[in-house]
Amino acid sequence: MTFFIHTFAPDLAMSPNTLFKIMNPFIQLGIRHDIVNAITELGFENPTPIQEQSIPVLLTGSNDFVGLAQTGTGKTAAFGLPLLELLDFDNNQPQALVLCPTRELCLQIANDLKNYSKNVNNVHVVAVYGGASISDQLRQIRRGVQIVVATPGRMLDIIGRNAIDFSNVKYVVLDEADEMLNMGFQEDIDNILSTTPEEKKTWLFSATMPAEVRRISKKYMEDPYELTMGTKNTGNANIDHEYYVVRARDKYAAFKRIVDFNPEIFGIVFCRTKIETQEIAEALIKDGYNADSLHGDLSQQQRDKVMKRYRERSLQLLIATDVAARGIDVNDVTHVINYSLPDEIENYTHRSGRTARAGKTGVSISIINGKEMGKIRQIEKVIGKRFVKAEIPTGFDVCEKQLFALVHKVHNVEVNEQQIEQYIPRIMAEFEDLSKEEIIKRFASLEFNRFLDYYKNAPDLNASFEDRPARDGDKFNRTGMRSDFTRLFINLGSVDEFNRGDLLGYICNNTKISGRTVGKIDVKGVYSFFEVNNGDVDKVFEGFKNVDFNGRDVRIELAGESSGNDRRSGGGGYKKRDGGGFRERGSERRDGGSRNGGGFRDFSGKRREDRTERRKRY
Ligand code: AMP
Repeated sequence: MTFFIHTFAPDLAMSPNTLFKIMNPFIQLGIRHDIVNAITELGFENPTPIQEQSIPVLLTGSNDFVGLAQTGTGKTAAFGLPLLELLDFDNNQPQALVLCPTRELCLQIANDLKNYSKNVNNVHVVAVYGGASISDQLRQIRRGVQIVVATPGRMLDIIGRNAIDFSNVKYVVLDEADEMLNMGFQEDIDNILSTTPEEKKTWLFSATMPAEVRRISKKYMEDPYELTMGTKNTGNANIDHEYYVVRARDKYAAFKRIVDFNPEIFGIVFCRTKIETQEIAEALIKDGYNADSLHGDLSQQQRDKVMKRYRERSLQLLIATDVAARGIDVNDVTHVINYSLPDEIENYTHRSGRTARAGKTGVSISIINGKEMGKIRQIEKVIGKRFVKAEIPTGFDVCEKQLFALVHKVHNVEVNEQQIEQYIPRIMAEFEDLSKEEIIKRFASLEFNRFLDYYKNAPDLNASFEDRPARDGDKFNRTGMRSDFTRLFINLGSVDEFNRGDLLGYICNNTKISGRTVGKIDVKGVYSFFEVNNGDVDKVFEGFKNVDFNGRDVRIELAGESSGNDRRSGGGGYKKRDGGGFRERGSERRDGGSRNGGGFRDFSGKRREDRTERRKRY
């Protein structure tokens, strides 16, 4: 009992320094005083879970190691602090090599290691990455370094010049291994590692564990100590995942509305292609938003400039491609917006991991169309978390939110008493005829009117017909799209002077289904394909039962992919089309040259009763 009390009631005679040594959890993990002092200055009071669990293992220096953890969980210190304990800084030869996928991450890691070791003598860290002067990097290497942090391409270049000796390397860290493999660095990694000693220890960190990462862990490691933070492949628990279902044509408007509804947003918006990234950024800038793009077509200098503005928060929305955004380490990102879902499901984890870093919370939003529900379900499986379906706010909601954001801002604004003082009498004189209430109303209206004007007639952007959540038993195609639609064939096409709009009108007119339930329309020469909601297929067949067009029977058939509708291909008299196998359809045209003269623009199908009449003419 006495012993117990003594341990937890420190001796009053103890110096604060001794107390710090006993109580600091990093000291207890085995990190030396000088380093703990430096990280305390960085605000590290307690180890993150990955640090708590990996530091004791890595400090032994005797294990290969696989750590499955998301970005932003404190991985750099998890391997960086043990490295700083294990290396011999009296020796100026490379003893540790950290490989990572991007220049940004490379700089970040090198910088972090320098910060952690600022109180330790003779620590030399070099960042080796492409897009910067190689001679500077070679000079630093020649001067003597113990830790090399590198992207694979430039590292290989330097190895190829015989400019570095890795024969003393004891530890290799593969950071964001999944990303490196995604980016096609497998061969480069093989080549680099072949220049390091067999007996080195390899520590691999990855946010996800696809088969390729599993394979390289087998290849490079011997009986590694495995640490999984949370469930495998699981996303950060502090991230809320939301999706909004909109029609494709409303996507940009919906996106803007989400942004307007979150006045304090500091977000990264992911697009699928460079072009989309550029277009969205340009449109946003034109519409008065504080946004800019980050993609591979920009020069390194341009990218650095954008990133600098974003880091400094003088940019509110960063519109980026997956590749360009890799390794972005910016704290306090409030929202990740998936303007387009990633092609690779695994990329979703990387995208959403840009928010909720260092224990903060964040929201990952996906704007989808109804057909992409399957992909959402697949992502849910990967991240082990359900998405919440959210509704695009109404114009009224946005105005209200903006109004109160403004009121809040006015209330909390820092007043520079000294500067403003001289103007106060004139300002007071201007407002003399107004009551306090009037003045408040006018200030609030300044900003509010702009939103009110924009949103006064704002339509509902939620896609009502597409937004049913996926249910068990739903079918999904290869790309994760739910097969809510059935693809149909119609024997009319561009030679009949139909474009997509004409055909949509013609279909709706004859079947009385709503244009909103018609999906993709693909107008070919003498035939076309169109999609309708599964529930409307019968109406389409029924609607076109006795219709002819310029003397030609209008024929509807199921197109190739329409699964689950085989009932039609039998007795009902409807054949199932397989997309490719059409006969040359010229012979089926019974209307000769008359297709141009039909005057069908009112889209009224002529019923078969007339057909006998017309047949007589042919
Ligand atoms: P990382 O996953 O290494 O990129 O770290 C993500 C962020 O968390 C960085 O900004 C780190 O500075 C911060 N961080 C890492 N470890 C800690 C800690 N123990 N306490 C507070 N912040 C931390």
